[in-house]
Amino acid sequence: MKELVVISGKGGTGKTSLVASFAALAGRSVIVDCDVDVPDLHLVLNPAVEHRQPFVGGKRARIRPGHCIACGKCEELCRYDAVLFDGPGNGAQARTFRVDEVDCEGCGVCAWFCAEKAIAFEPVVQGEWYRSATRYGPMLHARLVPPASNSGKLVSTLREEGRREAARIPSELILVDGSPGIGCPVIASLTGAALALVVTEPSLSGEHDLARVLALTRQLGVPAAVCVNRADIDEPMAQRIEARAREDKAAILPRVRFDESVTEAQMRGVPVVALRHSAAARDIERCWEELKSLLSGDVV
Ligand code: SF4
Ligand code: SF4
Repeated sequence: MKELVVISGKGGTGKTSLVASFAALAGRSVIVDCDVDVPDLHLVLNPAVEHRQPFVGGKRARIRPGHCIACGKCEELCRYDAVLFDGPGNGAQARTFRVDEVDCEGCGVCAWFCAEKAIAFEPVVQGEWYRSATRYGPMLHARLVPPASNSGKLVSTLREEGRREAARIPSELILVDGSPGIGCPVIASLTGAALALVVTEPSLSGEHDLARVLALTRQLGVPAAVCVNRADIDEPMAQRIEARAREDKAAILPRVRFDESVTEAQMRGVPVVALRHSAAARDIERCWEELKSLLSGDVV
Protein backbone atom coordinates (compact mmCIF):
# COMPACT_ATOMS: atom_id res chain seq x y z
CA MET A 1 0.00 0.00 0.00
CA LYS A 2 1.12 3.58 -0.63
CA GLU A 3 0.49 6.74 1.33
CA LEU A 4 -0.13 9.98 -0.52
CA VAL A 5 0.16 12.90 1.89
CA VAL A 6 -1.29 16.24 0.84
CA ILE A 7 0.30 19.20 2.61
CA SER A 8 0.68 22.94 2.19
CA GLY A 9 3.33 25.32 3.40
CA LYS A 10 0.59 27.59 4.71
CA GLY A 11 -3.10 27.47 5.56
CA GLY A 12 -5.87 28.53 3.16
CA THR A 13 -4.43 27.06 -0.06
CA GLY A 14 -7.45 24.83 -0.70
CA LYS A 15 -5.61 21.64 0.28
CA THR A 16 -8.63 19.99 1.90
CA SER A 17 -10.87 20.65 -1.12
CA LEU A 18 -8.37 18.77 -3.25
CA VAL A 19 -8.13 15.87 -0.78
CA ALA A 20 -11.94 15.48 -0.73
CA SER A 21 -11.98 15.38 -4.53
CA PHE A 22 -9.12 12.87 -4.67
CA ALA A 23 -11.04 10.66 -2.24
CA ALA A 24 -14.03 10.74 -4.61
CA LEU A 25 -11.83 10.03 -7.66
CA ALA A 26 -9.83 7.26 -6.00
CA GLY A 27 -12.91 5.12 -5.44
CA ARG A 28 -12.11 3.09 -2.36
CA SER A 29 -9.08 4.34 -0.43
CA VAL A 30 -8.48 4.83 3.26
CA ILE A 31 -8.77 8.52 4.13
CA VAL A 32 -6.83 9.94 7.07
CA ASP A 33 -7.36 13.50 8.29
CA CYS A 34 -4.05 14.42 9.95
CA ASP A 35 -4.87 18.14 10.01
CA VAL A 36 -5.80 17.52 13.64
CA ASP A 37 -5.48 21.09 14.89
CA VAL A 38 -8.09 22.40 12.44
CA PRO A 39 -9.86 19.36 10.96
CA ASP A 40 -12.43 20.17 8.27
CA LEU A 41 -12.39 17.23 5.85
CA HIS A 42 -15.39 15.79 7.71
CA LEU A 43 -17.48 18.78 6.58
CA VAL A 44 -17.28 17.50 3.00
CA LEU A 45 -17.08 13.74 3.51
CA ASN A 46 -19.80 13.49 6.21
CA PRO A 47 -18.30 10.49 8.03
CA ALA A 48 -20.56 8.19 10.07
CA VAL A 49 -18.61 7.29 13.23
CA GLU A 50 -18.30 3.51 13.77
CA HIS A 51 -15.62 3.45 16.47
CA ARG A 52 -14.33 6.11 18.85
CA GLN A 53 -11.39 6.03 21.25
CA PRO A 54 -9.98 8.55 23.75
CA PHE A 55 -6.63 10.02 22.83
CA VAL A 56 -4.21 10.13 25.77
CA GLY A 57 -1.59 12.60 24.69
CA GLY A 58 0.79 12.76 27.62
CA LYS A 59 0.93 13.58 31.31
CA ARG A 60 0.25 16.71 33.30
CA ALA A 61 1.08 17.72 36.86
CA ARG A 62 -1.58 18.46 39.48
CA ILE A 63 -0.86 19.61 43.03
CA ARG A 64 -2.90 17.61 45.51
CA PRO A 65 -4.63 19.77 48.08
CA GLY A 66 -3.88 18.65 51.63
CA HIS A 67 -0.47 17.19 50.75
CA CYS A 68 1.35 20.37 49.70
CA ILE A 69 3.25 22.20 52.43
CA ALA A 70 3.80 25.23 50.20
CA CYS A 71 7.59 25.06 50.18
CA GLY A 72 7.70 26.59 46.68
CA LYS A 73 10.27 24.12 45.27
CA CYS A 74 8.08 23.23 42.28
CA GLU A 75 7.58 26.88 41.37
CA GLU A 76 11.32 27.39 41.52
CA LEU A 77 12.08 24.38 39.28
CA CYS A 78 9.41 24.71 36.62
CA ARG A 79 11.10 26.24 33.59
CA TYR A 80 7.75 26.80 31.89
CA ASP A 81 6.41 29.02 34.70
CA ALA A 82 3.45 26.68 34.96
CA VAL A 83 3.35 26.58 38.77
CA LEU A 84 1.42 29.54 40.08
CA PHE A 85 1.22 30.95 43.56
CA ASP A 86 -2.42 30.85 44.48
CA GLY A 87 -2.36 33.29 47.38
CA PRO A 88 -1.86 32.71 51.09
CA GLY A 89 -3.55 29.66 52.51
CA ASN A 90 -5.78 29.35 55.53
CA GLY A 91 -3.50 27.05 57.47
CA ALA A 92 -0.68 24.53 57.09
CA GLN A 93 -2.78 22.20 54.88
CA ALA A 94 -4.23 24.88 52.65
CA ARG A 95 -3.33 24.74 48.95
CA THR A 96 -1.21 27.72 48.02
CA PHE A 97 0.25 26.62 44.71
CA ARG A 98 -1.42 25.24 41.60
CA VAL A 99 -0.35 24.06 38.15
CA ASP A 100 -1.71 25.93 35.15
CA GLU A 101 -3.00 23.22 32.79
CA VAL A 102 -2.34 25.29 29.68
CA ASP A 103 1.28 26.11 30.50
CA CYS A 104 2.25 22.71 31.92
CA GLU A 105 4.41 20.89 29.35
CA GLY A 106 4.28 17.60 31.25
CA CYS A 107 8.03 17.32 31.82
CA GLY A 108 7.52 15.79 35.29
CA VAL A 109 10.33 17.69 37.02
CA CYS A 110 8.11 19.11 39.76
CA ALA A 111 6.62 15.71 40.61
CA TRP A 112 10.08 14.12 40.73
CA PHE A 113 11.50 16.68 43.14
CA CYS A 114 8.52 17.31 45.44
CA ALA A 115 9.70 15.86 48.76
CA GLU A 116 6.11 15.61 50.02
CA LYS A 117 4.94 13.58 46.99
CA ALA A 118 2.21 16.19 46.73
CA ILE A 119 2.15 16.33 42.92
CA ALA A 120 0.11 13.86 40.93
CA PHE A 121 1.55 13.26 37.46
CA GLU A 122 -1.27 11.75 35.45
CA PRO A 123 -2.13 10.83 31.86
CA VAL A 124 -4.38 13.39 30.22
CA VAL A 125 -7.15 12.70 27.72
CA GLN A 126 -6.55 15.31 25.04
CA GLY A 127 -9.26 14.36 22.61
CA GLU A 128 -10.81 11.50 20.69
CA TRP A 129 -10.04 9.71 17.45
CA TYR A 130 -12.60 8.03 15.22
CA ARG A 131 -12.89 5.35 12.58
CA SER A 132 -15.80 6.24 10.34
CA ALA A 133 -17.50 5.25 7.12
CA THR A 134 -17.77 7.62 4.16
CA ARG A 135 -19.10 7.21 0.61
CA TYR A 136 -15.50 6.90 -0.56
CA GLY A 137 -14.03 4.51 2.00
CA PRO A 138 -13.15 4.36 5.69
CA MET A 139 -11.88 7.53 7.34
CA LEU A 140 -9.65 8.05 10.39
CA HIS A 141 -10.04 11.44 12.02
CA ALA A 142 -9.85 13.12 15.41
CA ARG A 143 -10.88 15.96 17.64
CA LEU A 144 -8.50 17.60 20.11
CA VAL A 145 -9.73 19.24 23.28
CA PRO A 146 -7.99 22.53 24.24
CA PRO A 147 -5.36 22.97 25.61
CA ALA A 148 -4.12 19.80 23.88
CA SER A 149 -0.56 20.12 22.69
CA ASN A 150 0.54 16.70 21.47
CA SER A 151 -0.85 16.72 17.96
CA GLY A 152 2.26 14.98 16.52
CA LYS A 153 1.50 11.89 18.58
CA LEU A 154 -2.15 11.98 17.50
CA VAL A 155 -1.11 12.22 13.84
CA SER A 156 1.10 9.14 14.28
CA THR A 157 -1.81 7.28 15.90
CA LEU A 158 -4.13 8.13 13.00
CA ARG A 159 -1.59 7.04 10.39
CA GLU A 160 -0.99 3.78 12.20
CA GLU A 161 -4.74 3.10 12.36
CA GLY A 162 -5.02 4.08 8.69
CA ARG A 163 -2.42 1.47 7.72
CA ARG A 164 -4.20 -1.13 9.82
CA GLU A 165 -7.48 -0.32 8.08
CA ALA A 166 -5.86 -0.44 4.62
CA ALA A 167 -4.48 -3.90 5.39
CA ARG A 168 -7.88 -5.06 6.65
CA ILE A 169 -9.99 -3.94 3.66
CA PRO A 170 -7.54 -4.31 1.76
CA SER A 171 -6.75 -0.99 0.01
CA GLU A 172 -3.68 -0.04 -1.98
CA LEU A 173 -3.97 3.68 -1.25
CA ILE A 174 -4.01 5.76 1.92
CA LEU A 175 -4.92 9.35 1.28
CA VAL A 176 -3.69 11.68 4.02
CA ASP A 177 -4.77 15.27 4.59
CA GLY A 178 -1.69 16.65 6.36
CA SER A 179 -1.30 19.77 8.48
CA PRO A 180 -0.22 23.13 7.10
CA GLY A 181 3.22 24.48 8.03
CA ILE A 182 6.42 22.56 8.78
CA GLY A 183 6.03 21.73 12.48
CA CYS A 184 5.84 18.47 14.39
CA PRO A 185 2.40 17.34 13.07
CA VAL A 186 3.59 17.78 9.47
CA ILE A 187 6.74 15.77 10.11
CA ALA A 188 4.58 13.07 11.71
CA SER A 189 2.28 13.17 8.64
CA LEU A 190 5.11 12.84 6.14
CA THR A 191 7.57 10.34 7.55
CA GLY A 192 7.68 7.21 5.39
CA ALA A 193 5.09 8.46 2.88
CA ALA A 194 5.32 7.36 -0.76
CA LEU A 195 4.61 10.83 -2.12
CA ALA A 196 3.94 14.33 -0.76
CA LEU A 197 1.68 16.57 -2.78
CA VAL A 198 2.28 20.20 -1.84
CA VAL A 199 -0.66 22.46 -2.62
CA THR A 200 0.30 26.10 -2.88
CA GLU A 201 -1.04 29.38 -4.28
CA PRO A 202 0.54 32.09 -6.44
CA SER A 203 1.60 34.62 -3.82
CA LEU A 204 4.83 35.69 -2.15
CA SER A 205 3.91 33.86 1.04
CA GLY A 206 2.96 30.79 -1.03
CA GLU A 207 6.39 30.86 -2.69
CA HIS A 208 8.20 31.32 0.63
CA ASP A 209 6.32 28.58 2.47
CA LEU A 210 6.63 26.17 -0.45
CA ALA A 211 10.43 26.49 -0.28
CA ARG A 212 10.35 25.62 3.43
CA VAL A 213 8.08 22.62 2.98
CA LEU A 214 10.12 21.29 0.03
CA ALA A 215 13.25 21.55 2.17
CA LEU A 216 11.44 19.41 4.73
CA THR A 217 10.35 16.72 2.23
CA ARG A 218 13.93 16.60 0.92
CA GLN A 219 15.26 16.17 4.46
CA LEU A 220 12.79 13.35 5.12
CA GLY A 221 13.55 11.68 1.78
CA VAL A 222 9.93 11.88 0.58
CA PRO A 223 9.42 12.55 -3.16
CA ALA A 224 7.34 15.68 -3.76
CA ALA A 225 4.92 17.00 -6.36
CA VAL A 226 3.56 20.55 -6.47
CA CYS A 227 0.16 21.85 -7.54
CA VAL A 228 -0.51 25.57 -7.78
CA ASN A 229 -4.12 26.15 -6.83
CA ARG A 230 -6.02 29.24 -8.10
CA ALA A 231 -3.04 29.65 -10.45
CA ASP A 232 -4.77 32.10 -12.81
CA ILE A 233 -4.96 34.75 -10.08
CA ASP A 234 -1.28 35.53 -10.76
CA GLU A 235 0.14 33.60 -13.74
CA PRO A 236 3.70 35.02 -13.56
CA MET A 237 3.94 34.08 -9.90
CA ALA A 238 2.55 30.59 -10.65
CA GLN A 239 5.32 30.15 -13.24
CA ARG A 240 7.96 31.39 -10.80
CA ILE A 241 6.78 28.97 -8.12
CA GLU A 242 6.84 26.05 -10.55
CA ALA A 243 10.35 26.98 -11.70
CA ARG A 244 11.54 27.00 -8.07
CA ALA A 245 9.83 23.69 -7.42
CA ARG A 246 11.51 22.15 -10.48
CA GLU A 247 14.90 23.26 -9.12
CA ASP A 248 13.97 21.37 -5.94
CA LYS A 249 13.31 18.25 -8.07
CA ALA A 250 9.58 18.28 -7.39
CA ALA A 251 7.17 17.02 -10.06
CA ILE A 252 4.87 19.74 -11.39
CA LEU A 253 1.20 18.83 -11.60
CA PRO A 254 -1.48 20.52 -13.72
CA ARG A 255 -2.60 23.83 -12.23
CA VAL A 256 -6.06 24.31 -10.76
CA ARG A 257 -7.94 27.44 -11.82
CA PHE A 258 -9.77 29.80 -9.48
CA ASP A 259 -13.40 28.80 -9.65
CA GLU A 260 -16.41 29.86 -7.61
CA SER A 261 -17.71 26.32 -7.81
CA VAL A 262 -15.18 25.45 -5.05
CA THR A 263 -17.16 27.63 -2.63
CA GLU A 264 -20.41 26.18 -3.98
CA ALA A 265 -19.09 22.66 -3.27
CA GLN A 266 -18.12 23.65 0.27
CA MET A 267 -21.57 25.09 0.92
CA ARG A 268 -23.24 21.97 -0.45
CA GLY A 269 -20.89 19.68 1.52
CA VAL A 270 -19.69 17.77 -1.57
CA PRO A 271 -16.29 17.34 -3.27
CA VAL A 272 -15.62 19.83 -6.09
CA VAL A 273 -15.44 16.98 -8.62
CA ALA A 274 -19.09 16.22 -7.87
CA LEU A 275 -20.03 19.44 -9.69
CA ARG A 276 -19.90 18.55 -13.36
CA HIS A 277 -20.05 22.19 -14.56
CA SER A 278 -16.89 23.10 -12.59
CA ALA A 279 -13.69 24.10 -14.42
CA ALA A 280 -11.73 23.44 -11.20
CA ALA A 281 -13.17 19.90 -11.15
CA ARG A 282 -11.67 19.21 -14.59
CA ASP A 283 -8.29 20.57 -13.43
CA ILE A 284 -8.41 18.42 -10.30
CA GLU A 285 -9.21 15.35 -12.41
CA ARG A 286 -6.12 16.05 -14.56
CA CYS A 287 -4.09 16.46 -11.40
CA TRP A 288 -5.36 13.12 -10.09
CA GLU A 289 -4.40 11.31 -13.30
CA GLU A 290 -0.82 12.61 -12.92
CA LEU A 291 -0.74 11.63 -9.27
CA LYS A 292 -1.87 8.10 -10.11
CA SER A 293 0.93 7.70 -12.63
CA LEU A 294 3.48 9.07 -10.14
CA LEU A 295 2.23 6.66 -7.50
CA SER A 296 2.38 3.69 -9.81
CA GLY A 297 5.68 4.65 -11.47
CA ASP A 298 9.32 4.60 -10.54
CA VAL A 299 9.20 7.93 -8.72
CA VAL A 300 7.74 6.41 -5.56
S1 SF4 B 1 7.25 21.13 45.86
FE1 SF4 B 1 5.54 19.91 46.64
S2 SF4 B 1 5.24 20.60 48.70
FE2 SF4 B 1 6.52 22.13 47.72
S3 SF4 B 1 5.06 23.66 46.96
FE3 SF4 B 1 5.38 22.23 45.34
S4 SF4 B 1 3.77 20.72 45.59
FE4 SF4 B 1 3.91 21.83 47.49
S1 SF4 C 1 5.31 18.90 34.88
FE1 SF4 C 1 7.01 20.24 34.22
S2 SF4 C 1 5.96 21.84 33.09
FE2 SF4 C 1 4.41 20.85 34.32
S3 SF4 C 1 4.31 22.05 36.17
FE3 SF4 C 1 5.73 20.36 36.55
S4 SF4 C 1 7.74 21.21 36.09
FE4 SF4 C 1 6.23 22.59 35.19
